[in-house]
Amino acid sequence: MPPSRRIFLEASVGLGSLGAAYASPVPAAVAAAFEPAYLKLHRSGELRRRADALWALLDTCRLCPRECGADRAHGESGFCGASRDVEVSAHHPHFGEERSLVGRGGSGTIFLTNCNLRCVFCINWEVSQGGQGWPRKVEDLSEMMLDLQRRGCHNVNVVTPTHYSPHVLRALDVAAGRGLRLPVVYNTCGWERLEVLKLLDGVVDIYLPDFKYWDGKNAARYSSGAETYPQVTREAILEMHRQVGVAHPAPDGLMHRGLMIRHLVMPNDVGGTREILGWIARSLPKDTYVNVMSQYRPTFRAFDFPEIARPITRREYDEAVAFARGLGLTNLDIQGWRS
Ligand code: SF4
Repeated sequence: MPPSRRIFLEASVGLGSLGAAYASPVPAAVAAAFEPAYLKLHRSGELRRRADALWALLDTCRLCPRECGADRAHGESGFCGASRDVEVSAHHPHFGEERSLVGRGGSGTIFLTNCNLRCVFCINWEVSQGGQGWPRKVEDLSEMMLDLQRRGCHNVNVVTPTHYSPHVLRALDVAAGRGLRLPVVYNTCGWERLEVLKLLDGVVDIYLPDFKYWDGKNAARYSSGAETYPQVTREAILEMHRQVGVAHPAPDGLMHRGLMIRHLVMPNDVGGTREILGWIARSLPKDTYVNVMSQYRPTFRAFDFPEIARPITRREYDEAVAFARGLGLTNLDIQGWRS
């Protein structure tokens, strides 16, 4: 699960409190001239075809780079814990995401249960690895999207969507037909297959990937054997950039489109901060958005690994920021220090 801020479950809303199903008006929370990418595909029927193409990957599942082959279409659970039905832990306006996603109305987060990466330091481990959440129908998921729009959120932010990408696209198709106009944020750990990303071309407005590790051995050690993470994520981020380009906020300060990379600074540099930032500076435009994240705290199974069983120091964070600036990266999101 991406290291976005911890889920505030007390703010979540169950399906029972969702509004009655009705066509949702174009929200004031989004600029009148804005049209999300997926609308064009919805009108042509292509969005449904893309969803079906992803659904076909559920037999012998290969939706993510684990390609574990679970027969999810017939109810088997995969390595990630996901089966046929989408499971959702919570949906609500979230005010802890990046400023340009939060605005005044909040980012409309939908926290999806289970995760294919399964990091030992996950702050949302109850959801990502503890099974917290409830099975929902695709129609329920689309209703959540519309509910977030009605509540004034500025986007639909699907958190850890990879293993449920077929369900997300089917729900989006239904919601688009009923008036959804918010940009879609694909909030992912970054470890994505190109075959899947190509099916998301023209669907996703904002990609919000992590870039966690430069070293495959560390990726394997802390993320359940995911040794291919660095190479796969580099290729995935380049594809995301090709699809949506550099992220720049609109005049109202809100982000509508683009690539927003998150990098979590880890203790003892197990993430490889310099290598990751250096690669971004070499491979993408210098104004690529990069959130240099300071909030690492040991949790869950991190205490079994002495080198990551502490928060980062202020010095570690300051050095990461100085290095990013020295590379000429100009669109950095620098966080205040919380000791
Ligand atoms: S999404 Fe889940 S079930 Fe599918 S390949 Fe990945 S780990 Fe296996």
